[in-house]
Amino acid sequence: MVAPTLNVGIEVVRVNPAYTSCTCADCLSLGQREKKHQFRCFSCALLAHADCNASRNLARIITSADAIRAEVIRPNVGTTCVP
Ligand SMILES: [Zn+2]
Repeated sequence: MVAPTLNVGIEVVRVNPAYTSCTCADCLSLGQREKKHQFRCFSCALLAHADCNASRNLARIITSADAIRAEVIRPNVGTTCVP
């Protein structure tokens, strides 16, 4: 997944995926996967596709201050500035 994005210059941000599949994307409470693809939050009653819920959590992490601690890989496209 990383190599194709580097070829076109897309920035890759690595995020720790821990708890993204069991955290409610709406209220951030811990929920439960009831079936293989179903997530349920018992705090706010969110019922969502588990992958969609996890994707929303990943997007939130990337756009939050947590992203500052994330590892960022930038493609090596050479230097255009000579000191
Ligand atoms: Zn919730």
